[in-house]
This record gives sequence, C-alpha cells and structure tokens, in this order.
Amino acid sequence: MSKPDISRAKSAALYEKAKTYFPGGVNSPVRAFKSVYGTPLFIEKGDGSHIWDADGNEFIDFCCSWGPLILGHNHAAVREKVTEVMQKGMSFGAPTALENELAELILSNNRFIQKIRFVSSGTEAVMSAIRLARGYTKRDKVLKFEGCYHGHSDSLLVKAGSGLVTFGETSSAGVPKAFADETIVVSLDDKKALQEAFEEFKGQIAAVIIEPVPANNGLLLQTQDYLDHLRQLCTENGTMLIFDEVISGFRVGFEGAAGYYGIQPDIITYGKIIGGGLPVGAYGASAEVMDHVSPVGSVYQAGTLSGNPVAMAAGIAQIGELLKPGFYDSLHAKTAGFVNDIQHFVDERGYTVKIFTIGSIFWFAFTDQESITTAEQIDPNSMIRFKEMHRELINRGIYLGPSGYEVGFISAAHTSTDLETTKTAIFDSLDIVFK
Ligand SMILES: *Cc1c(COP(=O)(O)O)cnc(C)c1O
Repeated sequence: MSKPDISRAKSAALYEKAKTYFPGGVNSPVRAFKSVYGTPLFIEKGDGSHIWDADGNEFIDFCCSWGPLILGHNHAAVREKVTEVMQKGMSFGAPTALENELAELILSNNRFIQKIRFVSSGTEAVMSAIRLARGYTKRDKVLKFEGCYHGHSDSLLVKAGSGLVTFGETSSAGVPKAFADETIVVSLDDKKALQEAFEEFKGQIAAVIIEPVPANNGLLLQTQDYLDHLRQLCTENGTMLIFDEVISGFRVGFEGAAGYYGIQPDIITYGKIIGGGLPVGAYGASAEVMDHVSPVGSVYQAGTLSGNPVAMAAGIAQIGELLKPGFYDSLHAKTAGFVNDIQHFVDERGYTVKIFTIGSIFWFAFTDQESITTAEQIDPNSMIRFKEMHRELINRGIYLGPSGYEVGFISAAHTSTDLETTKTAIFDSLDIVFK
C-alpha cells in the first residue's frame, strides 16, 4: 500500500521564500526536485547516515551531498579538525602548513600523480585541467563523451549533435558556438567513433576527458578493454588523457579509478570527497606536467580561497580516515551485500530493474538490459518508475537524490540496521511501482 505523503509544510514555505531570492528557489538546479514529486526538502541537520528536514522528518540519506560525505554527516574527526583550525582564522591568502599536510596525505598514497593544485570546486578543477592540457600540447580541441558531466565550464557544456563524430552543440544558453566548436563529442564505449575522431582531427586534440566511472547520467560502467584502448589511442596521438575523478576519486578506492583500472592518465581531477564536505577541488599530474602551471609555468590559474585552511582541515580529517586499513574493503562489501539482496528480490519478482554498482556507488536502472554503457541506452520513459519509487521511499524515510539519472552513495556511517530498513522500504516501494 502507498504511504500517505509526509508533511512538507515548512519546506514548502521555505521554498516559496527561496523562489523570491534565487532562480528556481535554489543555488544548484537539481535541488529543485523537478524530476520527482513534491516540493524540495529543506535539510536542517545531518548526523551519520541520517538527515532531518525542516518539518522534522528523518531520512536515511543515500545522496550524501552528492558524494562528498563518504564518512557520513557530521563525522567527529572532520568536525573536530575543522573546529580546531577555525579558531585561528578563516583565510589568509598565504600558504599554510595545512595545504602541505593534505597534499602529502594524497601524494604519498597515490601512484598516479606527483604534484597537485588545490582549487575550490570540481568545475574549477576540470576547467584548469583542460587549460593545462591545451597549454602543454599547444592544441585547442577537446574530446568529451556524451553522458559524462564535468561541471559547468563553457567548453564542456556541450552535447553531441547528430552523427558518429560531431562538433558539440552547446547545452546551455550563453555558451558561444565558437567554444562548442572546439569540443568534439562522441558516445562512450564506441571504439569506431574514437578512431574516426582521431583521424578527422589528427594532431589537433589536446585532451580527451572522461569520467572513468561515468556516474552523472546513470552509472555507465566502461569495460577495462575500452579504457585501455582509450589510453593507447591518446598516447599514439600525443593527446592528454584526463580522468575526471571528481566522483570516483577516493570513492572506488583511495587511488580512484586510475588505481581501480590500473591506468595512468596524464591529468586527474578531484573534488567532492577531497574536501570532506567543504568546497575543495584539485588537479594533479606528473611533476613535469604540473610545472607548466603558474607561477613556474605559463598556464595561468589562481584562486583567492584556494587551499583555504578550514577546507583543508576537513579534507585532512576525512582523507586520514580513508587511509585506515580495511576502510574500502568493508565499505564495498557492505554495498555489494545491499545491492545483491535488492537484485535478488527484483529478479524473483520478475521486475525490470537492474542495480548497477561499483565500490560504494549504486544506480537503479528500470531496464531489462544486462549492461548499460552509453547514455543513449537509457530509456527516458523508465524515469517514470524512478519518480514513483522516489516518492514511496521519501514517504518511508529513505532519501535518494531527486532524479533517476543520479547515482546513490553508501557511506561508512550506514549501519546494517540502516541497510535492512532501506531494503524493506525498497521492496515495498517496488511492489507498488510494479503493481
Ligand atoms: C560533481 C562533478 C563535477 C563538478 O564539480 P562541482 O564541485 O559541482 O563544480 C565535475 N566532474 C564530475 C565527474 C562531477 O561528478
């Protein structure tokens, strides 16, 4: 039986106010709940795996701020480190030892980068990595994949046109066509399209950028073979391979997707987890490549709040926890068990659902396809089922990101009780969706 809708009176009132202040009432579009039922929930607090909204409703949270909170909300180690550091001031615009500390934690435990630069968001990290690749190769074109998201910088707000290899079309007003013309867009998992692109734009492609674990438009897991092939093509063509690990970095393992697949990219971008819930992004590469960045190199990039001490403190505390022995093993085992149980349930009932997963990421696809590796394979009509499931889950105290194209995250704070409760809620919700 469907559950009655939870009370959202206070959230609704806050949303009405917010709409007078912000476009669409939000400061980032997906938060507006356009793809699911109801008014957006205004969150008041989080603790561990739980969040509470303005009306006092409690949820087990699988959005986890879209990925950063791998330890869950308000983790004691992060909170204490931040509290300690902020006693000494918020920002200096001068170097601090905290930047060294976070860099050392990362660089001494990651075989794929030798130097790093901290920025304040994933978008900024990617934008800077693209500039570095262009500056380093002295080429202009960038190749990206349909279904990968890399933040909202101009060069990358570009989607595929029609045809195998296409100049991009802008996917936002305000992006000049001239920018989109420098971006080539191809489908994921398509060696032929890649081959054609490299032939058509021989000697012109500065960088290929990919989410090695594409997790912003469903979870479009690529094969090892395809990623190896991509690495090889880039090497043969003098093109830099950028792994955008803003989600996968520190998520599928400490060394992210580079470590998971054993592939050495030329530049890696980070965000989300690296800042422990505060705004931090980063890009890293070999020392030789990174030394092309200002002030030693000619590629300019700067930031008033880059390496902000409070943000560094959160990163240091969170990254330190991830380095504890067995951290990822137990997180991944917990996720695999959760996903297996749900897959088993839907298979027994004959529901057309497949849960794709890697590490502690999962994605509900309302499909009978065994694998989905490209954006084109996602059936937009299947999102109706997600929308229904989302409503049932919210009413049962389970919070998933408000779109069927978004993945879910499990944190170290999710207990076996949380996961049992969630499974029951999912089973009951799916019974309603498929009734
Ligand atoms: C979230 C994300 C970004 C953008 O990061 P912001 O911090 O939102 O600017 C870029 N790339 C990927 C892969 C992401 O998941």
